[in-house]
Amino acid sequence: MKQITTFLRSKKLWIIVVLSAISLILLEPGRYTHPRVSQVDYKVEVFGISDSNGGHFSLDSNETRFDITPGEAESIVASWTFLTEKNIELKVGVSNWAVQDEEGSAEVVFGVRHNQLVLLNDLKTQPGNSRKLILEIDSGDVVSVEVNKGAILLEDIGYVEIKEHRPYDSLLVVFYVILFWIVFVWFVFNGFWLASIPMIIGSLLIWYSIFAYDMLFNASQLLWSILFFSLSASLFSIVVYPSNKWIRFGLKTLFITLSFLACTLPFVVVLYTLEFGKPLEQTDYFGFYQTDIRESISYLQFNSPKAWWLILLALPILFIPLAFIKKRINKLNPATFVVSAILVIMTFIFEIPEMITVASDSYGDYTKELELFKENLRSFDEFEGQLQVSQKKDNEVYFIIIGEAQSKFHMSQYGYVRPTTPHLDSLSKLANTVIFSNAISSNTHTAMSLSAAFTQANYSNQLDFQKSPSIINILNAADVHTYWISNQLKYGIWDNAVSAIAEQCEEQVFINSNMGKTNETDDFDGALLEVIKRKLKSANEGTHVVFIHLMGSHGQYNKRYPDEFRMFDHDDFKSLFGNLNPYEVNPYDNSMIYNDFVVSEMVHLLDSLPFERKAMFYFADHAEDLITKHGHSSSLFNFRMIHIPTYFWFSDGYIETYSSQIANLKENSTKTFTNDLVYDAILGLTGISTKASNSEGFNVFSAGYQLQDSSIKILNHIDYTDPGHSVYHEEINLQKLSNDSLIPFNIFPHRVDSKGMLYEMTAKGFDGIECDLVFNDTVFEIGHGGEEYMSGNSLEDYLNSSVGDSLTFIWLDIKNLRNDNIDKVLERLIVLDDQYKIKQRVFVESDTKSLLFDKIRKAGFNTSYYLPTDISQIEDRAILKSKAIEVANQINKQGVSSISFDASLYNWVTVYLSPIIPQELEWHTWQLGLELQQTNFIDNLHKQPFASDNRIKTLLIRVHSPYYL
Ligand SMILES: [Zn+2]
Repeated sequence: MKQITTFLRSKKLWIIVVLSAISLILLEPGRYTHPRVSQVDYKVEVFGISDSNGGHFSLDSNETRFDITPGEAESIVASWTFLTEKNIELKVGVSNWAVQDEEGSAEVVFGVRHNQLVLLNDLKTQPGNSRKLILEIDSGDVVSVEVNKGAILLEDIGYVEIKEHRPYDSLLVVFYVILFWIVFVWFVFNGFWLASIPMIIGSLLIWYSIFAYDMLFNASQLLWSILFFSLSASLFSIVVYPSNKWIRFGLKTLFITLSFLACTLPFVVVLYTLEFGKPLEQTDYFGFYQTDIRESISYLQFNSPKAWWLILLALPILFIPLAFIKKRINKLNPATFVVSAILVIMTFIFEIPEMITVASDSYGDYTKELELFKENLRSFDEFEGQLQVSQKKDNEVYFIIIGEAQSKFHMSQYGYVRPTTPHLDSLSKLANTVIFSNAISSNTHTAMSLSAAFTQANYSNQLDFQKSPSIINILNAADVHTYWISNQLKYGIWDNAVSAIAEQCEEQVFINSNMGKTNETDDFDGALLEVIKRKLKSANEGTHVVFIHLMGSHGQYNKRYPDEFRMFDHDDFKSLFGNLNPYEVNPYDNSMIYNDFVVSEMVHLLDSLPFERKAMFYFADHAEDLITKHGHSSSLFNFRMIHIPTYFWFSDGYIETYSSQIANLKENSTKTFTNDLVYDAILGLTGISTKASNSEGFNVFSAGYQLQDSSIKILNHIDYTDPGHSVYHEEINLQKLSNDSLIPFNIFPHRVDSKGMLYEMTAKGFDGIECDLVFNDTVFEIGHGGEEYMSGNSLEDYLNSSVGDSLTFIWLDIKNLRNDNIDKVLERLIVLDDQYKIKQRVFVESDTKSLLFDKIRKAGFNTSYYLPTDISQIEDRAILKSKAIEVANQINKQGVSSISFDASLYNWVTVYLSPIIPQELEWHTWQLGLELQQTNFIDNLHKQPFASDNRIKTLLIRVHSPYYL
């Protein structure tokens, strides 16, 4: 009795009870402990959802619950075919947020079948009243759920929840929580409260990082985190046991290092998940293994807020105080050791969490694949006869230059506002340069992209790159001299596919001596020039193919160029980039301009070599995204990561000899090119034939080159024609538009208020724009008013820019034309006309009612009255009519040459205004619901009521730009 009283009075007991109770209330075992059925374990089909019937079916975010809205007329049937044997819990019910009030409750009626067996028939469910079934599923079993409306209410969202049936999971959770606090309390009461802090934090990290993968709370997360805590506690009590203080100190140091290491992976997973909303995937690990620590760190720097760096640094500091704990224990307490041992055994019963398997499996796959690839390349060299390669004895030199992280959107050659490619811009004007306008990379990571580029494998032929010959196998077999000259690392942390390819070359020079660990290069890319010169000094006959791998614009852009190339360090961002503040854009653009210089120097070097026939082929491994700041991480993919530069240069001798190939190449230069076809392009370029060649359709030097856009997939799974690929759909729509003879008017982009956007629009092929102006005493400032929306550009900046002359139409929406500034406005227009000949190109639009507006027209400029958009709100016919008379009187007096109006006014203009205004007035309109990137843009355009009205001269539409202001 007394013992029981003492036990109940024990402070430790009550601490454990209280802490356990709080934890369990927070965790709610039973509610959130759902081992979900993985999506690979079943296939689901839904019948009955249609436009007429309605209905909805979707899997919720934690992947256990399917939300189902019943159809209006007939039932929705969802049927799951299971692929594995499992016990499942199937619950049907009405979502809690469905209606429940005096008028009644939402009601959904369910029927459930397991194969042919009817389990539930016409079960009426309401919020708070669900039904759970336990089913023993064999592989191939079909479970179907029929869902019908019950009582007629609007909100009647039903659900079907499918979980694995693990009846003891909730009990295990309770058990682990109590166990955790027992170990904790014991540990603290042994005097180690300070030591328990880092261990608790480490346990939480482990718990959260495992949780991040299943987003469901389960017993195994708790098991692993308590295992960490009790193992640390056991180890720590061993560490502080020895009486010799030096041994104690040594053991403590070892312990701290181990604890820190054990927390590193969980920490990275947690950091990544918090930042990007999803945990690390296999592709992230692949990217990591084939690059190097430095790149991974610079990648994290790229993406993570500074605060995370402080936390990362704090992680080791957290464990350091353990080194100074002086307390020595006299006897080892067996309790924690026993708990630890039991937990270790239990973890073997549970599955290893995904956080650990993803990391370790990725590493296993990576090394296996790389080994296979190397072996395969060696065997092709050894048995080159099987490749049946034609011999190449001509005296020719080829440079194959591989750019790094080069975004076409940051090159003036491709329409970027800053002059980042002056050399290429002038080279492009020569007949011996061919520039591809639609080149993309097949992957966003260097090693994966280049292993597809340099082997016969590509996405379309579905060959496996590990089993395919490389272009160097072919060149070797053709008796060509091959060189690999690189400023990149020879090895990643664990070696990579690119170095495996490079190793096959006759000669290899890696000027970057920081082997394996970092991408800190000793030299800028320009240092490669000397190496190439030296290597080719004595070459005068035979065919030479030199692969040049640049460091280009690899992460840590500011380390990629010498000081004299720091051309962009000002921050007139608004005038260039509108509302966007692109990440690290100055150093990136500096690295681009340096890259342009280096490549042009290489062309000069090539040109100076004593050979007749010479050619250069430049492409990039992938691009870089500076807008969402995701760099080129495939798991955070967006389409800006793949638009790369690709171009060729040829000597006169080459052009003479291979004229038909060049003609084909020029013909193909506007077609889509993916860089996994580089293998075929090099075969075409050098004219080498082999049994290991793909069809002509993949060879850009062939007349038969044709890649179906719809068959292209990026990263092997993302459709190139995906509706989210706006750049692609804009291009397609512009092509369709230029062939559309039914549209009688010109179409231009609305609100081109930043210079970046102006350049983008002209690069897309628009020769007209609309922009907003605020007249400021002597200057037309571009922007639509308020400091926030003024770009800092003047109209003169636009006219004076390198694309100024290409504009044949500029719609000037003057926001502040008034009686008292009309004279000055006109004066300025005349000055600009003297300088830039704008009279025939501009059109001055204003909503001013001032009768002085006619002065501008009389001076020879086109003017337009901006019709008040609010007329479209009026319904009363008499008012509509009187408005028309009012407007007609005014514009007659103003003598405008045109009217401009929102498309919603089109009906009023045709019915009321048109009969009473001069017929020669031009009409201009805008319909901002039309967006050029829409996949159904052309259809939408044709559906507009004004689509075939030839009184309309111009239509403004919305063209999205990151540089919109
Ligand atoms: Zn790269």
